[in-house]
Amino acid sequence: MNLPSDINIVEVGPRDGLQNESRFLATPNKIRLIERLAATGLREIEITSFTHPKWIPNLADAEEVATAVRHLDLTTFALVPNRRGLDRALSTGLKGVTFVFSATDGHNLRNLNRPTEESLREIIGLEAETRAAGLKTRISLSVVFGCPFEGKVSAERIISICERLVQAGSTRIGLCDTIGVANPVQVNELTSRLAEQFPGITLELHLHNTRGRALANMLAGMQAGIRHFDTAVGGLGGCPYAPGATGNVATEDVVAMLTAMGISTRVDEEKLLAAADLLADWRDTPLDSSIWRSRRMSECRQDDASAGA
Ligand code: ZN
Repeated sequence: MNLPSDINIVEVGPRDGLQNESRFLATPNKIRLIERLAATGLREIEITSFTHPKWIPNLADAEEVATAVRHLDLTTFALVPNRRGLDRALSTGLKGVTFVFSATDGHNLRNLNRPTEESLREIIGLEAETRAAGLKTRISLSVVFGCPFEGKVSAERIISICERLVQAGSTRIGLCDTIGVANPVQVNELTSRLAEQFPGITLELHLHNTRGRALANMLAGMQAGIRHFDTAVGGLGGCPYAPGATGNVATEDVVAMLTAMGISTRVDEEKLLAAADLLADWRDTPLDSSIWRSRRMSECRQDDASAGA
C-alpha cells in the first residue's frame, strides 16, 4: 500500500463535537477537556466557534474558553463564518482561525443565510487579514461530497472554489463530508484530482461517520496522498440533518488504527482515552468510539471475573 509515515490530526471535538450535543458542557469542563487533549501530544485543536450564540448556544462561552487556553503549547483554532465572528475571535489570543462556508448555495443559505459566492468573497478578505495579523488560517469547505439540500456536488464546482481560494493565497483547504455520505472511491478520485491540480496546497479531510465509512474514506484519502485529517475525541459530532446519527470519525479509532499500521500520529493513546473518559462521565449515552467502547467492555469483564473469584 502507498502510505505516509506520519499524519497530522486536527482535533475538532471541542468545536464540531460539542456544538451538536444535546446539552451545554460547563465552561470549566470544556477547558479541562482541551487541557487533557493538549496533553496527548495533539498539536492543533479546534477549541470553539465564533458563530452567533443564538444558533450555537452550546458554544456561547467561546471568548472565555479561548482566553483560558491560550497559554497551552499548541495551535488553538476556532471556527469563524464571517466578519463579526473574526472580530470576536481576534480579541482572545487564538493562534489560528478556521474559516467555514459551504460548497452549495442550498447549504450555505441554510447555515449562513447567503449564497456561497457571498461567503467566498468575504472569507477571501478575512483570511488575508488574519494571516497579516500573524495567525494560522485554514478553510473548511462544507458538504463537498454531498449536500442534504442539493444532493450530488460536482468535482468541477469544488475545483473552481479551490482555484479562487488558492489564487487569493489560501494554503490549507479542508474538504468536509459534513453529512457522512462519501464513499472511498469518491474520496480517492476527488482528492487525487485536487492534489494534482493544487500541488503546493495542504488538503485536509473532515469525515463524518454517519454511515460507518469514515475510516475507509480516510484510508482512500491517504492513498491519494492526503496527510491531514480532522477527528473528534469520542466520535462526537452527530449530523444536524440526521438526529441521533454518529459523529466525526473518533480520534481514538484513528490513532489506534494508524499506530497498528506503523503510521505516526504523535498522540498518546492512553492520555487520549483519559480525555474521552471526561466526556463519557458527562454524557448520557456511550461514546461513538470503537476503541473506547472495547476498552470499557474489557474492564467490565475483568470486574465480573474478579467479583466471581
Ligand atoms: Zn463536521
